[in-house]
Amino acid sequence: MKVSRRDLLLGTAGLTAGIFFTPVPWKVLDDVSIWTQNWPWIPQPARGPVTTKLASCTLCASGCALRVRMAAGYPVGISGNASHPLTKGALCPLGFAAHQLNWHPARLREVRHRGRTASWDEARAAFEKASAEGPIAVVDGRSGRAASTVLQSFADKHNGTYEVVLTAEERALSPYAQWVGVPVSALGYDLENARTIVSFGAPLLDGWGVPGRFTHLWSERAASASDPQLRLIQIEPAFSRTAAAAWHWVPTCQGTEALLAASLAKVLVEEHLVPAQGPLPPASLTEAAAQTGLTPTAIRDLAYSMVERRPTLVIGSDDNPAIAALNVLLGSLGTPGGIVKKPTTPSVTLQISAKNTPPRAVLLDSSVPWEYVPASGVEVFRFAAWDGGGNRADWLLPSPGFLEETTDLPTPPTSARAVYGIAPSLLTASAQLGTAADFLQQIDATLPTVEQTIHARCEAIFRSHRGSVCGEKSSPITGFESAVKFEEALRSGAVWLDESPAATPLKCALKTWPTNNPAHTTGNWANTWAPPVMPTLAAKLYRESSLRETPQRSQS
Ligand code: SF4
Repeated sequence: MKVSRRDLLLGTAGLTAGIFFTPVPWKVLDDVSIWTQNWPWIPQPARGPVTTKLASCTLCASGCALRVRMAAGYPVGISGNASHPLTKGALCPLGFAAHQLNWHPARLREVRHRGRTASWDEARAAFEKASAEGPIAVVDGRSGRAASTVLQSFADKHNGTYEVVLTAEERALSPYAQWVGVPVSALGYDLENARTIVSFGAPLLDGWGVPGRFTHLWSERAASASDPQLRLIQIEPAFSRTAAAAWHWVPTCQGTEALLAASLAKVLVEEHLVPAQGPLPPASLTEAAAQTGLTPTAIRDLAYSMVERRPTLVIGSDDNPAIAALNVLLGSLGTPGGIVKKPTTPSVTLQISAKNTPPRAVLLDSSVPWEYVPASGVEVFRFAAWDGGGNRADWLLPSPGFLEETTDLPTPPTSARAVYGIAPSLLTASAQLGTAADFLQQIDATLPTVEQTIHARCEAIFRSHRGSVCGEKSSPITGFESAVKFEEALRSGAVWLDESPAATPLKCALKTWPTNNPAHTTGNWANTWAPPVMPTLAAKLYRESSLRETPQRSQS
């Protein structure tokens, strides 16, 4: 039979069409994908007994309480633990996915010196040499921990300086600390007793402070109510998530917050809405209206709504003395529903030592954010669990990752009540990893260890007979028979909560209206964590689903 070109073409077309009606190619594809899933080098979830352990997230100072689902001793899932008195079971997206971080490609697993592999002995020798040649600076990103005591003790004993990098929430409390002479760590916001909260761009519903605290308060007292028990007035240019949920959103022009605060102060004083006779700011209402984008009537109405339902608490997104001064005028300093002073607790309040001599070397604890830029010309020893990139470090020293280190959890910034907890390590850190506190303790064996400091703090809290222990059920501390039993409870996931602070008057008389400090960026989880070091799940939420605001969007 003669086969023509036409027959060949018809045959090929028929074959191609037939492929779509036969299951063979699809079956082959399915088999290949099953086969490739079983390649031995593909990571498999651990198989073994499934347990749930209580722990705490240590990725930021909030110390949110966790329930960690473990399979064969490895964390495979995380949820919040509702028994924590502040965090109340809420977590930010980072916390939900934090167990993935230990396997992140940016994880540091070896000592590096200017790009080459080095050893801990070499790093220690270099640091000892630098300390002998000149003063050193020790920088801490989360003060008040037992590890902070070791860092500061080393700096004090070795003619060095100890510096703390404050978060945006802590910086917002700095003006009060300066005016009343109380350290930032001893001040907090009494959100629970406030009836009106005026936020100048603070992302209260988007990761501000301890995430669970304000979101719970808002859902109990404000959500979906046209005249809520707790009024939230959000002043910011963008229609952020907090602005969208607020009782009243006041859109203003970017960078005019201090001017708006000054004009509100002027209305409050001139129209006798506050008893205080504070210094009058120089700004005129017309000038403020022109620059903020609001009308003079809108500014006046805003001032009236600030005093309509009191106590009123004003919260800035960062260090802004003009915004802080509004609380002074409103009488919200040292009063319920305002800025309060926490009672003295056994956790140490660190004093920051400042010297003008430039250091020879700087040691950065793993809690220091990657945005921190050390002075140029100094040798930098940076501890980190993940390589955040971008910044210069002569020595990169690998630190324990998520749940790989036992640490204590002092009171988070912004809290009005003191709390204390212990985050136990659930995973054994590799021998290649080390903490800054251990590194310094190996150089100077006379320093206290983290464990010794934690024991001493538990002992001191136990002896104070104050507060209660919140675990699966809450009980007064006096119900514990010894400090050892109390410490055991904390190591098993319970948290000590101090009594409510009695109102301690904070004396502050402003003589002149404060001028504004340079603006900082608003801090929330999205812009304090560089995307390359995000767990896969949080990166998906952040980049793809639009469930969280990007810094660009929140500033638009
Ligand atoms: S806010 Fe997020 S990162 Fe910070 S402790 Fe809580 S869960 Fe962890």
